[in-house]
Amino acid sequence: LVSRKWRVRPTVLDLGDGVRIGEGSLTLAAGPCSIESEAQMELIMRHLVENDVRIMRGGVFKPRSSPYSFRGLGMDGLKLFHQMARAHGIKIVTEVMQVSQVEEMHDYVDVFQVGARNTQNFNLLDALGGVDKPVMIKRGISGTIEELLSSAEYVFSGGNEKLILCERGIRTFETASRNTLDLNAVPILKEKTHLPVIVDPSHGIGIREYVPAMALAGVMAGADGIIYEAHEKPEEAASDGAQTLSFPESARLIRNLRKVYQLR
Ligand code: PEP
Ligand code: MN
Repeated sequence: LVSRKWRVRPTVLDLGDGVRIGEGSLTLAAGPCSIESEAQMELIMRHLVENDVRIMRGGVFKPRSSPYSFRGLGMDGLKLFHQMARAHGIKIVTEVMQVSQVEEMHDYVDVFQVGARNTQNFNLLDALGGVDKPVMIKRGISGTIEELLSSAEYVFSGGNEKLILCERGIRTFETASRNTLDLNAVPILKEKTHLPVIVDPSHGIGIREYVPAMALAGVMAGADGIIYEAHEKPEEAASDGAQTLSFPESARLIRNLRKVYQLR
């Protein structure tokens, strides 16, 4: 069902208020790895509005490698996130980690994110197949392109056709970067599926200085959008600070992404 053989026309998702994801427009989503506080959300939303970015990312349930790391503000944080986003005309993409959260999060999110550690959580995918909200599925940490498509097939076949695929880097033998952003996946996915394809250069390379280059490369490779981490003080971020852009870096990237998109 997610194959081009089944549907030739590219899928375009409408989040409302003129926010679309898919062919015909460049989707930009930015924000902190973790939602940390009301003050932080206010600063980030202002940065997004100033730069005409309509989607904010930010986790309230965080899948951390260590149980002692910051694990997010949970539902209280999400409710506040939702309330503030509505006030700023911003849409929300945030990670859902387990089946029990789907229903409680539903009314407060615009796009459910399935994280790389959950790409093959088939119970979660089944549950998301039953909701009427877009789902962005990240590629598994050691997942193949075919496995990512199979994960999308779970949600689609469950009845939810509002899907976005996200290349966020895979684990390889290389240790010079956090992950290896597999830009090969972009044209391959664009050919194999009618679904929108988004690139996450932050997790893909894991090094702030190199995030803009990989974001621009993602657009040139044919991505429908870029999702990246930005924070008012990246060095103080509760998670993933080393790969997070400051506001000036983010503003510059946004300008360049729009220029490069015009070249396609
Ligand atoms: C994130 O987006 O902050 C995140 C945890 O991503 P991933 O699942 O790709 O590691
Ligand atoms: Mn992160």
